[in-house]
Amino acid sequence: MKVFYRPEQVATSQQPSPSAFKPRLVVSDWQADDKINMDICSFEPVDPDIISFAHDPEFVRAVLACEMANGFGTRSADVAASLPYTTGSMVAAAEYALLHQEAVCSPTSGFHHAEYAHGMAYCSFNGLMVAAIAMHEAALVDRVGIIDCDAHYGNGTDHIRRKLDIDWIEHHTLGAHFHDFYDARNGRFEAWLDRSIEACMDCDLILYQAGADPHINDPLGGILTTEQMSQRDRAVFERLGHLPLVWNLAGGYQVTQGATEAQRREPILALHRETARLHTAILG
Ligand SMILES: [Zn+2]
Repeated sequence: MKVFYRPEQVATSQQPSPSAFKPRLVVSDWQADDKINMDICSFEPVDPDIISFAHDPEFVRAVLACEMANGFGTRSADVAASLPYTTGSMVAAAEYALLHQEAVCSPTSGFHHAEYAHGMAYCSFNGLMVAAIAMHEAALVDRVGIIDCDAHYGNGTDHIRRKLDIDWIEHHTLGAHFHDFYDARNGRFEAWLDRSIEACMDCDLILYQAGADPHINDPLGGILTTEQMSQRDRAVFERLGHLPLVWNLAGGYQVTQGATEAQRREPILALHRETARLHTAILG
């Protein structure tokens, strides 16, 4: 499993969302796990001109220059410096997946709420849309499938699709359909996922947000059981893993007691660990 990680994608200042420092925690967790076969790949930060494929260029410039609020609602230089690396990880992973016809991982979060000229809800730039459009501009894809299994609605992804009049992206977002455990039970989540996977079968690239926040115990989720989460990843890898595919971390907000950050975040790390183990077991 290729993982497109650089330490620069981690914003070290304390942010209201744990997502900004999650890449470092998951990568060190996976390194210590003998069920995960991981190969860390470096990459170049993405150019603002590429980010501007999916965003208002003035918005991109102003956020990177700390003149406009980022998705955390701050003008933190630390966050601004990390942004070309978070989206850069996604773009590099997508390019690698396409050139090598492989499923790979971008340990990133904080994309799907970012709209064309506005960041929100911990999302500054929409790395999903930047990666999709960059690959389309490079003539590497005709169609891209986004299966967004974060707990929340990918409003930013839909906003950019509408704004740029894009009809070649299949977008399936869990958060538009499921809001609690009752919505998702009795096979309803599995039926939705099955239809979403089916609709993406003829895509040239799959972007899969394997969010940890739909979990039943997540304070911002409360939708899927541990078993459903695992079956979700298995279904995507088994049925779409033969295509170029990039999966990422998206949200996850459970916290428990512990002396270290990794111990406090263990419920989230356990969910991402399971996704990485399934990747290794199913796709190598
Ligand atoms: Zn979320």
